Amino acid sequence: KRTPLIAGNWKMNFDHLQAIAFVQKLAWSLKDAQHNYAEAEIAVFPPFTDLRSVQTLLAADKLAVALGAQDVSPHEAGAYTGDISAAMLARLDTRYVIVGHSERRGGHGESDELIGLKASAASAAGMVPVICVGETAADLEEHGAAAIPLRQLRAALGKLPEGAEFVVAYEPVWAIGSGDPATPAQAEEVALAIRELLRTERGDAVADTTRVLYGGSVSSQNVASYLKQPNVDGALVGGASLKVDEFSRIAQFQ
Ligand code: 13P
Repeated sequence: KRTPLIAGNWKMNFDHLQAIAFVQKLAWSLKDAQHNYAEAEIAVFPPFTDLRSVQTLLAADKLAVALGAQDVSPHEAGAYTGDISAAMLARLDTRYVIVGHSERRGGHGESDELIGLKASAASAAGMVPVICVGETAADLEEHGAAAIPLRQLRAALGKLPEGAEFVVAYEPVWAIGSGDPATPAQAEEVALAIRELLRTERGDAVADTTRVLYGGSVSSQNVASYLKQPNVDGALVGGASLKVDEFSRIAQFQ
């Protein structure tokens, strides 16, 4: 059985004080809702500058919310101005690292190969990469839904050693921030294709235990319909993860 993962990607929102206030309120809200963390794991992905503050809060209050980062350098250390290494993130109890978000593939020209190297760097430091894949509207028209995500995933896996734990997030680019999510059936179709690829590339155990998330205009209104799909094991939430009550409802799948 795969424990669903509800992941909030804050993108470039909230300074460290806002981050602390948010996580504190989220913890209260989850407590009120008697959230069962064994039924759904929750992770927040703040900007780098918030990680230390959020880490301190999570540790002090023993909160079962996992910490994630939005990106990582493929390099270990050295002359890489502006980059943050996997070791630095791991030292802050960061458990997950998003790699290959479409906003980095598109806005920063990140290649499939670079994303694989980032996933590998995160994994080598003991963290779990969340490998994002997804097609643009033009890709969808030209190649159908699954071809591009599968190409992206195959390339990333080419750099990620056997035995590494990872999460895959299917985020159709046309669904991100658009209010026009994929239908549950569309999400399931690609999630199933991803799982089949994992089966051929990594074998049954990896295919059966690796979580495949859906992302793109997820809200409390639609989250349950995705989680009902047999191959969708959670959600990567952007805009709706910035509102405490909304994100808390999403975590309860209601
Ligand atoms: P939205 O939920 O705002 O569509 O963003 C999705 C996303 O990009 C999460 O990584």
